[in-house]
Amino acid sequence: MTSLQSVRGMNDILPSDSPLWQYLEGQVKAVLSQYGYREIRMPIVEPTELFARGVGEHTDIVEKEMYTFNDRNGDSLTLRPEGTAGCVRAALEHGLLYNQIQRLWYQGPMFRYERPQKGRYRQFFQIGVETFGMAGADIDAELILLTHRLFTRLGVLGSLTLHINTLGSSEARARYRKALVDYLEGVKDQLDDDSLRRLYVNPLRILDSKSASTQKLLNAAPVFDDYIDDESRLHFADLRARLDANGIAYQVNPRLVRGLDYYTKTVFEWMTDALGAQGTVCGGGRYDGLVPMLGGKETPASGFAMGIERILLLLQAVDAVPANIEKTVDLFLVVAGDQADAVAQVLAEQIRTEMPAVRLQMNCGGGSFKSQMKKADKSGAAVALILGDDEALEKRVQVKDLHGNIAQQSSSWHELAEVLGQLGL
Ligand code: ATP
Ligand code: MG
Repeated sequence: MTSLQSVRGMNDILPSDSPLWQYLEGQVKAVLSQYGYREIRMPIVEPTELFARGVGEHTDIVEKEMYTFNDRNGDSLTLRPEGTAGCVRAALEHGLLYNQIQRLWYQGPMFRYERPQKGRYRQFFQIGVETFGMAGADIDAELILLTHRLFTRLGVLGSLTLHINTLGSSEARARYRKALVDYLEGVKDQLDDDSLRRLYVNPLRILDSKSASTQKLLNAAPVFDDYIDDESRLHFADLRARLDANGIAYQVNPRLVRGLDYYTKTVFEWMTDALGAQGTVCGGGRYDGLVPMLGGKETPASGFAMGIERILLLLQAVDAVPANIEKTVDLFLVVAGDQADAVAQVLAEQIRTEMPAVRLQMNCGGGSFKSQMKKADKSGAAVALILGDDEALEKRVQVKDLHGNIAQQSSSWHELAEVLGQLGL
C-alpha cells in the first residue's frame, strides 16, 4: 500500500511545534482579555452562498480559492476561507447585533486553494477579531492599539510596519472607482493580465497589483484623496490623531485596498520584510456595509484577522522565540523494582493532587535504572524522583536535582511537597 500523506498545503502541527503555537495563542488571549473581548466559535463549514454574498463574488477568494462541495443532500457547502462572514452570520442568527455592542474574537483553521509556499498554505490558522455597533474612529484605533500591544509583547514590533488608509464611504468609492476605470481604460493595452481581468469587476484591487509595470501606470492615476467624502476624511483624521496621541508609528498608504469587497473607511495592515512575499501578518478595517448585505440592519463593524503561521515564522526569523517554551515536564519519577512499581502510581497521583502546578511524568513500561535516568534527563525535568523497592516499603523517595548542584536527598512522601518546594517546584 502506498503511504498516505496529508493534503498538499495542509500541515501537521507536531508536538515539537505546538509549544510555540500555545505560547502565541496564550499571548493573544492575554491581550484580548485586557481589552474585554469575548470568544465566539463558529462552524468550519458554511453554506456556499454566505461567502458568495459576504466576501464578494469578484474577490480572489470566491473566484478561485474556495473548497466547495455538495453534501449528500445536494446542498452546496464551503470550508470557510475566512471568519468574518461566518461571525456576522452567527451574530445575526443569534440576535447578538440588535441594539448591542459586541467585541468578539475567534480562532481556527481557514481553507483557501492557493499555491502553497512559505507563509501560504491551503489550511492555515487565523485569529480574528470583529466588533459591532461602534461607528467611530475610537474603536478602529482600539483594534490597532491592541495589535500594537500584542506585537510589542511578542518582541516583533521592530520588524513590522503599520500601513493605514481610508477607503471612504461606498458612494465616494463608487465615484473614485469610475474615475480609476476611465483612466485605466486609456492605458488598457499596457495592463498586466490579472489587472485587465479585474478592470470591470474589482478595479480597486488593481491598486494593490504586484506587477511593477502596472504600479508605474498607477503613478499617473487619479488619487482617492480627491474623491473622499468629508465624513470619512474626518474619521481618518480622528484615527490618525488617536494613533499619534498613543505614539504609534504608521505609514499612510493610499494604495492599500485589501482583498475583500466589504471594507469602508479605515483599512490597515501590519507588514514585514522578514518573510519574503508573504509580508502581511495582520489585516483589517471597517466594514459597515457587510451586516446589511447579509440581511441585518445597518450596523457599524470593524475588525481584523491575523495569520498565525506568518507570525510564528516571524518570531523565528527575528529570534523572538522565548527560551524553554518546549519544556513540558518538571518532575520525572523513576520506578526501580517490583515493590516500587506497585506503589509508584499512587505516589504520582498524590503529588499531582498536592502540587497541581507541577508537571510530573512517571516512567511507564519498565526499563533499567540507567535507561530511566536517561529518559529523565531527556524529558527536560528539573528534578528526578527515584523510587526503589526499599523506598517503596518505607514510603520514602530519593530526590535528585538534575540541573543544579544540590545533593541527592531522601524524603518521606508526606514531606515531599516541602522538599520539592525548596528545589523551586
Ligand atoms: P495575501 O495578500 O497574503 O493573500 P489576504 O489579503 O488574502 O493575504 P486576508 O484575507 O486579509 O489575507 O487574511 C488575513 C491574514 O491571514 C493575512 O494577513 C495573512 O497573515 C493570513 N493569510 C491569508 N491567506 C493565507 C494563507 N493562504 N496561508 C497563510 N496565511 C494566510
Ligand atoms: Mg490572499
